[in-house]
Amino acid sequence: MDSDYKNYDISNIVGHKKQLEFLKGLFFSGRMPSGLLFYGQKNIGKRFTAAAFAASVLCGDYRAFAGEGGGSPPLNFCGKCPSCLSFLNGSSRSLLIIEPSGSAVKIESIHKIDSFLGLTPAYPGYRFIIIDEASSMNASAANALLKMLEEPREKTVFILTASNGGMLLPTVVSRCLLLGFSPIPDEVLSEVFKSEFPALSGETLKFYSKLSRGSYSAFRGLIEGKYLEKRDFLIDIIFKELFAEYKNKACGRNPYDISVKFNAAEKEDFELILFILRDIYIYKMLKNEKLLYNEDIADKIRKFALDSPLSSKDIGHMIESTVDHIEKINSYNLNKSIASDSYFSGLLSL
Ligand SMILES: [Zn+2]
Repeated sequence: MDSDYKNYDISNIVGHKKQLEFLKGLFFSGRMPSGLLFYGQKNIGKRFTAAAFAASVLCGDYRAFAGEGGGSPPLNFCGKCPSCLSFLNGSSRSLLIIEPSGSAVKIESIHKIDSFLGLTPAYPGYRFIIIDEASSMNASAANALLKMLEEPREKTVFILTASNGGMLLPTVVSRCLLLGFSPIPDEVLSEVFKSEFPALSGETLKFYSKLSRGSYSAFRGLIEGKYLEKRDFLIDIIFKELFAEYKNKACGRNPYDISVKFNAAEKEDFELILFILRDIYIYKMLKNEKLLYNEDIADKIRKFALDSPLSSKDIGHMIESTVDHIEKINSYNLNKSIASDSYFSGLLSL
């Protein structure tokens, strides 16, 4: 859990102002429902909004309980009271966050809710159960959750987030108040990061907002993951070798060399490869630089697209195997360096 308490103050929610006003309205008018469903594209802040909102309500509850005048506007997360601290160190008896284990929310996680509800909270007030990516629940988990939603308890609020609402049981959906989330507009993201990282050029900000597709966490990941540095390394070392020597086994290209040189195993590293492959493919097919994600290095993309012996079909296969590889990293606990070796050897033997 993030130890920077300021991160959970609702004033730090980027975008989603309407949604926040709506939630505050429910709370201050005493009309909090027992089930809320936040739906919208993946990674745009649904879970963060749920956590920050719940933690702020609980902070107010605690301060009211301690006679410190909580519960009245502005709703905020002080980061110092016992409620906020218990949230930050994961021991809260008023807020439980359930996440998918592997690719799905499983029945065992739903059973955790039962034990959580059996605990006596440290002080009177609301209790929140956030189920992240609830649309990944399997049937038994969804049915167990449905039973809980059908027997609402006083001041107990379930917040479900779903990037694929269509996968949820209609009976679960019908028990919830729905709240839609949209990707955060490019200008809003650029503005936030401009004040936080004044050294970044307008060009880089523009490039990152395009790549992060409305996701605050993706944008932050690009900055912290040094996306541009990694990309330049990939382009100048890996892609040069991969494309120049592809199908030229005589020169002894060893996939293991590439894998070692790349020295990366995280999902984000392969997403980076995917973005570049995607651009090479698009350029090969449509010859239009305006459509590239990596528009700033269009000259290099063009060179790969036109000079390499690879056909668009070859590149299409490379894209497919990269997508497969990313899915594997997401869903299994695999040995990442072995997986990375086999990924590159697969690419070279297509
Ligand atoms: Zn607090």
